[in-house]
Amino acid sequence: MNTDEPNYTTDPVAELSTTNVSTEALAPLQESASTPDQSSLRSAELRRDFKQKIPELLQLERLIRQYPQHLNAHSELTLHARHHEFPLYSITLGSNANTAPTLLLTGGMHGLERIGSQVLIAWLQTLLERLNWDSHLQQQLAQVQLVLMPILNPVGMYLNQRSNGNGVDLNRNAPINADGDVPLLGGGHRLGPFLPWYRGRKNGRMEAENIALEKLMHAQILNRPFALVVDLHSGFGMRDQLWFPYAYRKKPIHNIADYVALKMLWERTYPNHTYIFEPQSVHYLSHGDLWDYFYLQSRAQQQPHFLPLTLEMGSWAWIKKRPRQIFNMAGLFNPQMQHRHARVLRSHLLLLDFMLAATLNYRNWLPDEKQRGILSQTANSLWFR
Ligand SMILES: [Zn+2]
Repeated sequence: MNTDEPNYTTDPVAELSTTNVSTEALAPLQESASTPDQSSLRSAELRRDFKQKIPELLQLERLIRQYPQHLNAHSELTLHARHHEFPLYSITLGSNANTAPTLLLTGGMHGLERIGSQVLIAWLQTLLERLNWDSHLQQQLAQVQLVLMPILNPVGMYLNQRSNGNGVDLNRNAPINADGDVPLLGGGHRLGPFLPWYRGRKNGRMEAENIALEKLMHAQILNRPFALVVDLHSGFGMRDQLWFPYAYRKKPIHNIADYVALKMLWERTYPNHTYIFEPQSVHYLSHGDLWDYFYLQSRAQQQPHFLPLTLEMGSWAWIKKRPRQIFNMAGLFNPQMQHRHARVLRSHLLLLDFMLAATLNYRNWLPDEKQRGILSQTANSLWFR
């Protein structure tokens, strides 16, 4: 056995084999028009193939089957690659009132960064199980909308590559050009899909995955009074970092004060945390960033508060502890040792719980007019001198 292969057996979700799901458990699913059951359409051979190459998708489908009473699952799009079909799932929980604040959690935009999908699926499993017995959580969920898209790029994940099935980097694909120098290749380029970070063709439509996400943004996220997003990635730096727009220019965004308030709320509440909270432009500029694009859309439609964040899990620390991991492509973006994998799955649960509570209670911490001025000055001295 190749010991460099990731071992997912520590994931409690993975303990349940797909073949163990009883037909009773599947029954409510088949009756619901909004809950797709693509898993039952797959041959045993294809299930084995998916279990090896994209176990995260099977784990997510298992949760959809196990907890139909708590969630609404929807396949936004079916992607076709290598003669297989790949559903692009969204999962919605909680309030569907359009006055409810909303938390959107996304992961797996880059197919190599599968740890982000795994963290979201682990958090979702805990949440769904707690909803069976925790009345406090049930009350919370009744007042907030929670939307998850844990596997934004299933074809890329299946193929074990950063880009999607067309060789396009989904987070360089939005129609925005950087206002300044970007890193060679990494900032996005149009040389072709044979190199990573390819933006797609000039003046072309966004990729189907991004159009599906955009549709969901307009239906469920950008029309709410308050929406927070955490998009999970891995592979940059030693520390876990939370980045916010802009990626395309080195100027503060309009609602920078909201971000400073959220950063301070987190730091006051969890003073022993290790996350670094910064605008992405402090690190590098890039073309085609999706969250810049959606942020500008939220401004255009005068959404009062839209706060997208990217969680960059610092995989270099995993490499430092196990340097030969650098020779394994998956090892650059994912923890390889079983104990470290389990620790990463645990370590972000608190942050995601906090984001849910902060969304629900946004009126209790968003700054007023007077505070906004002070917090904007704070942002300038921290990041934009
Ligand atoms: Zn990424």
